[in-house]
Formats: sequence, structure tokens, C-alpha cells
Amino acid sequence: MLDKRQFYINGQWVNPAVQNDLEVINPSNEEPYAVISLGGQADTDAAVAAARAAFPAWSQTSKKERLELLKKLLEAYNARAEEMAQAMSQEMGAPIDWARSAQVGAGSWHLQGFIEALPDFEFEYQYAKDEHHILEPIGVAGLITPWNWPMNQVVLKVGAAVAAGCTMVLKPSEIAPMSSLLFAEMMDAAGFPAGVFNLVNGDGPGVGTQLSTHPDVDMISFTGSTRAGILITKTAAPTMKRVTTELGGKGANIIFADAPEKAVKIGAIKCFNNSGQSCNAPTRMLVHRSRYDAAVEQAAAQAEATAVGPASIEGKHIGPVVSEVQFRKIQGLIEKGIAEGARLVAGGPGRPKGLNRGYFVRPTVFADVSNDMTIAQTEIFGPVLSIIPFETEEEAIRIANDTVYGLTNYVQSADADLCKRAARQLKSGMVETNYRSFAQGSPFGGVRQSGSGREGGKFGIEDFLVLKAISGWDE
Ligand code: NAD
Repeated sequence: MLDKRQFYINGQWVNPAVQNDLEVINPSNEEPYAVISLGGQADTDAAVAAARAAFPAWSQTSKKERLELLKKLLEAYNARAEEMAQAMSQEMGAPIDWARSAQVGAGSWHLQGFIEALPDFEFEYQYAKDEHHILEPIGVAGLITPWNWPMNQVVLKVGAAVAAGCTMVLKPSEIAPMSSLLFAEMMDAAGFPAGVFNLVNGDGPGVGTQLSTHPDVDMISFTGSTRAGILITKTAAPTMKRVTTELGGKGANIIFADAPEKAVKIGAIKCFNNSGQSCNAPTRMLVHRSRYDAAVEQAAAQAEATAVGPASIEGKHIGPVVSEVQFRKIQGLIEKGIAEGARLVAGGPGRPKGLNRGYFVRPTVFADVSNDMTIAQTEIFGPVLSIIPFETEEEAIRIANDTVYGLTNYVQSADADLCKRAARQLKSGMVETNYRSFAQGSPFGGVRQSGSGREGGKFGIEDFLVLKAISGWDE
């Protein structure tokens, strides 16, 4: 059993004030393999005090100094990429090849995005003849992250906070803390001054809430469920700290009549990737009636063709879902889909054949889903696709927007004007058209109950800054 009970505070690995063990479980075999400690108020206070003490000097560093450190961090990250892949694969069940490419790659991609955005970022400018504006780092940031894309989330927050000149306390998901502990070693190796970056493990009611209520924390950058986002927003209110949120989603993927032949297959793959545990997954497939029957067959075939297996095995497959809690929740929602009358065309309840241990879920496709069903409204966070037919463009847009979420929607059509028209009408922070990927440094974030933050590149840096206006400052 790996002993990972220490926290990283003020440039040192330190023991928890009071030991409070939690086992980290490998979801591929349900075995605990490491132990961390859940922090308490004294640990949170120590980390916040270190970040507060480091802020005056760190906030005054030049762009060049911060850029150099970000580059060193990227070097440290790349140098230990394999260890990072193994850490994420074990803690949250990402198949090792997927962990190496997508999960590790997301971290380096975003780090590179900040390295490219920072040199041209204008931290101050003359606004009028005698008025000057300065964008200042907001202060000490509490960073709270989920388990599903561990390095994607951590780097999006740490990279932006560093670039902005903030100091920080990271509380990673207690379910998948191992990659963040390794990341803290990378921050250390990169040579950040003591106190700029601190890590305290803990759960939501503990360290999470201690950060959101802390009078010396100026901002919380949160990624996770809408449930926790609401709680954090409430608990942060008495101190009026800034709260940026990246929350859940229930993306619609509109397959218009003239969409390319492969649109359904790719949509299903994107839904099942990462075992369905992506906030921006296209989980509701809206298909034009003229292609509906074929689409149901194609999606079911893709589900049947999707291999499921332990994360340690190389090759293309999906792994388990992260935990027993998630496994049970997903099973319950699949049962609910059947009970509410959706037509099960692939997968279903229970584990895939031959997998009796580990939190494995069968890639599942429901057809004839009506958008008011629970499976169409709830973020399932498992490999479960709901297919809904539509007749007209208006109907497709109405169904797509009929959700409390608004993170990423998808449009598939050969008609560029139709794609643009649909994109304008969709209520979401992002619209992915014809599966074209977003550029480096593109803003990631949602509207409505998908949250309000924007992460990545210059947009992510902006979230960690406050604008100061100064009059009587002549050009
Ligand atoms: P979660 O909300 O349960 O936990 C996320 C983090 O918040 C964890 O570190 C947890 O300890 C902490 N937390 C929980 N309750 C808290 C509280 N009351 N106060 C402070 N901190 C608290 O989410 P999860 O299950 O880890 O992650 C899955 C969720 O994250 C999904 O809903 C997914 O859509 C969302 N997500 C969103 C994005 C995005 O960018 N929009 C990206 C990835 C994941």
C-alpha cells in the first residue's frame, strides 16, 4: 500500500495535523492500493497562510519570470509523462493508452496554451488620455477539481493562476488524488517559490468547504458537479470571494439529414470515450427522422463493438467507471430508462460478460427517448447514449436547449449555413461543428447550470485577474 498521506505546503512535504486516512481504490479491481489523509482546518489554514505570505512577492514577478517557470513545469511534466499516465490510469480507470494520449496530453496541451498566451497578454493599458487600467492577480486562489480528467482540470487552473500571478491551494478530488500529488512534485521540480503552490487533500465538507469559506482565500475556481457548485457558491457568499464554476453537461449532438455518413458512429464513440465520464460528452443524440432507424442501428453496433476492460491493458477499449458510487448511480439510471419506456437497443444493466470485478458498465444505447425522460435530463456520467428523433430544425434546437445545462452542443451537417444558424441558437458555452476540434487556448466553459467560468489560454488567465482603473495617469 502506497503511503501518500503528506501534503505539499510552503514548498515542503508535511504530515497532516491530524491523521485521517482514506484509501484510494483502483476501479479496475476494486482494490485499495494507496492511502492519503483527508486534511482538516489546521492543514487548510497552513496552506492558505503559505499562499498568502507568498502572494506579495509572487504577484510582482514579471511575465518573463512566470513564463520561464511554466516552461520548466512543462519540461517536468513531459519528463514524467509515463508516471502520470500510470497514476491516472490506476486512480480513475483510464485505459493506459488513453491515459498516455488523451489524459496526459490534455495537461501538456493546456500548459502549452498558457505558455503561448502569456507573452502577448496585456496586464495593463492606457484606457483614455489620463486613465490607466491594470489587471492585477486576484490573490490567493482555492482550486477544487474533479476526478474525471484529473490533469486537464488541474493544469487549466494551476497554469492560469500561475500566469496571472496568483498563489494557490489545490484540493484535488479525494477519489483520484494520486496524479495531483505527482503534479505537486513537478511544481517543486520546476522551482516555484515556496508557498506559490500548495496542495491539501480532503473532501468537500472538509477542506473544500474550509477553502470556500476561508476569509483569506480571494477566489475559488471549481470544476465538478452542479450540486457541489451550488453549495460552494452559497458557502463562498459571506466572504464575497469570486467563484468560477465549470459544472455538468448534457450535450446534444444534432445529426441533420445531410450529415456525413460517419456522424453517428463518431458521436457514439465520443459519448462512450472515458467511459462516458466527460462533462462535454454528446450524450443526447438528436437524429433527423429520415436517418433515424439507420442511426439507431449504427449507434447500437458501435456500442456492441466497444470493448470494455481493465485500465492496465493496452489497446483501444474503455475502462471501468471511477467508483462504486458512480457504478450504482449509472445502473440505477439505466433501470430508470427502461422503466420510463425508452427502447434499450444495446448494453443494459449489469457488468459486461466476463468482468465480475471492477466498476465496469456495458456501453448502452437507448432509442425512442423523449427529452423529458430522466435519462435525457440527468447527467449520467457513464457510457450511456440516448437517441431522440426530430422532424424540423426548430424542433431540434428546441430539444437541444430543453435542459438545465449548457456546456457543449454538437452540430453535424454538410450545410455550412445550417451549422452556423444552429450554432447561434444553441444555448451553450461551446458548439462543436462537424467534430472539428477547438484551437489551443480556446475558452472552455458553459452557461446556465454548466457554470460560468472560462478556462484555457488568455480566457483562463482573465478569470484570475481583477481590473483596477486609475484616473489622472497621463499617457
Ligand atoms: P464533485 O462535485 O462530486 O466533486 C468535485 C470536487 O469538489 C471534488 O474535489 C470534491 O471533493 C469537491 N467538493 C464536493 N463537494 C464540495 C463542497 N460542498 N464544497 C467544496 N468542495 C466540494 O464532482 P466529481 O464527481 O468529482 O466530478 C464529476 C462532475 O464534474 C460532473 O458533474 C462533471 O460534469 C463535472 N465536470 C465539469 C467540467 C467542466 O469543465 N464543466 C469538467 C470536468 C468535470
